[in-house]
Amino acid sequence: MDKIIIAGPCVIESEEQFFKTIEFLTSSGIKYIRGGIKKYRSDPGTYQGTEMAIEWVKKARKVWDFKFVSEVFSIEGYEDFIRDHIDVIQIGSRNMHNTDLLKKISLKFPEKTILFKRHYSASLNEFVKHSEYLPINEVWMCLRGIQSLHPTEQRFFPDLSDIVRLKEKTDNKIIFDASHAACESRFVPYICKAANALGVDGLSIEVHPNPDEALSDPQQQLDFIQFTSLKSGFIF
Ligand code: PEP
Ligand code: MN
Repeated sequence: MDKIIIAGPCVIESEEQFFKTIEFLTSSGIKYIRGGIKKYRSDPGTYQGTEMAIEWVKKARKVWDFKFVSEVFSIEGYEDFIRDHIDVIQIGSRNMHNTDLLKKISLKFPEKTILFKRHYSASLNEFVKHSEYLPINEVWMCLRGIQSLHPTEQRFFPDLSDIVRLKEKTDNKIIFDASHAACESRFVPYICKAANALGVDGLSIEVHPNPDEALSDPQQQLDFIQFTSLKSGFIF
């Protein structure tokens, strides 16, 4: 089976940033493009995403051939957009426990694949149990790093060995979000290799044309040169 590779910016910031990234990634053979429209941010003073991204996504889908992966926070008001333009619905870490949202998504969009992210403090059993709120959907279980004991240096810590444990608990595909687990771009290639060695089904990697100027997660996003070198030294 081919590895599932999901790549794209943490959050969609502008038409230029998003289009440049899609152009680069699709020409590198990447099929699943990620990009947040809205973001959960701890600090309300930071960039929260923009609704204009909805129009940029619609426009991009007319130009490039890709599957769009994006987090859904609520269905109300976004039903048509989700149905027509999100191929893989992401449930973010902070919504893993939002069983009302899970039930609604399962009911409204049973045909969609779900990228279901582990809450950074959830046990594996909790993670698996909550995935059962999506009984009909194809669910991709996404490990994304867990709460770290030294959050100043590194917010999250890679839950790599849980790839193996999770395989023993579910038949769903397992994706490893190397970027959020790494917290810093320098660790991303090693974490991708380790996740691969542990038998993961897919990887998620944040990519930005200019990470230093990114409006969220600047330290962990790869630029195009870093992504190309990861890809060429690797398996996808
Ligand atoms: C994301 O992947 O865009 C994201 C916000 O990750 P998480 O929900 O895992 O923090
Ligand atoms: Mn991010």
